[in-house]
Amino acid sequence: MNRYWTLSDRPVGAWPEAGTFERREDPIPTPGVGQALTRTIYVSLDPYQWGYKRRGVEPKGAPCHARTVAQVVESRIPGLSAGDFVFCTNGWAEYGLMGEGVPRPGYMVPRKLDPSLGPISWAVGVLGMLGLTAYAGMVLQCAPKAGETVVVSAASGGVGQIAGQLAKLRGCRVVGIAGKPEKQRFVTEVLGYDACVSHLSPTLAADLAAACPNGVDAYFENVGGACFEAVLPLFNPGARMSICGLIAHYGDAPGADAGAAERAAAEARGVTVTNLFVGDYVADHHDAFLNEMSGWVSAGKVVYREDIREGLEALPSAFAEMLKGGNFGKMLVRVGDDSTRDLRVV
Ligand code: NDP
Repeated sequence: MNRYWTLSDRPVGAWPEAGTFERREDPIPTPGVGQALTRTIYVSLDPYQWGYKRRGVEPKGAPCHARTVAQVVESRIPGLSAGDFVFCTNGWAEYGLMGEGVPRPGYMVPRKLDPSLGPISWAVGVLGMLGLTAYAGMVLQCAPKAGETVVVSAASGGVGQIAGQLAKLRGCRVVGIAGKPEKQRFVTEVLGYDACVSHLSPTLAADLAAACPNGVDAYFENVGGACFEAVLPLFNPGARMSICGLIAHYGDAPGADAGAAERAAAEARGVTVTNLFVGDYVADHHDAFLNEMSGWVSAGKVVYREDIREGLEALPSAFAEMLKGGNFGKMLVRVGDDSTRDLRVV
């Protein structure tokens, strides 16, 4: 049987709670012509998935949507064989089909992975959509120059840790905003940011101002709320801001538009604001990004931390924790054996 999690029939509240999700099982599907059956290994847990659930994007009764890393069990797709590793969208399920006629967001194109580039879990992280998000927002949108000051919120998280390192590679002064002290230490000592302040501090605005004596030239926004309020008075003339995400607002009433309010406030100070949607960058930038980023990670110029939880049963609690800062690094759940894990030292 294929075990999976789906949204239960209860109304979806502001944040996930006990009973939001329900475990079900169905027979393992059989691949048709042009399809492959895959066994899920890693499920990627990302804040945007909560928006899908609150907006009712997912079909009722279907496995919760998620990007996954999986291994092919049976293939009727030319060029793909049993045993190959793939990026696909099985969601919160042990098995799934990929290929012709399998619904998925248009830009999440399933693909065969090359395990020699890095741990296969990185395909939903630094060598996948998260890395491309950081690259698009930092390199292409904020485009910081050497000597400029760049601020990144949720700096220790999946996207934030990569975004800040890309600004360091460009010779910027990089200041992070993170929660607990151990995350702040990771951001400065391991990621190499110049400073990191905490949004849990009652003096966040003053702390950030002290860490940015020359003002802020670029802001990579992952959070919103108090983080944005602290950055706003520090923007220099000609500053850029990329709105990647607004996780502090993901529990707001549907229809509220925190992004529009931030855009208006920043533009009133002369900041160039760009909304970021990673799907816009896949067709034109994915291959060049993958080439460049795999070079950086293998040379140790970009380091990457994951927070991997174990087992299908852990999915709802890991997801709820991640939305509240309980993850330390990119949040993943391993739901199936990763035979490549023992082959490499990570
Ligand atoms: P993270 O790994 O960064 O996890 C979320 C982190 O956000 C938490 O660990 C927590 O870190 C921080 N956080 C949560 N609530 C608050 C709060 N109220 N105030 C301050 N910090 C908070 O997630 P991702 O890297 O996957 O995603 C980061 C952002 O990027 C999200 O907003 C996401 O939606 C967005 N995104 C956007 C994409 C796009 O195409 N635009 C694509 C992919 C992601 P801490 O403990 O430090 O507070």
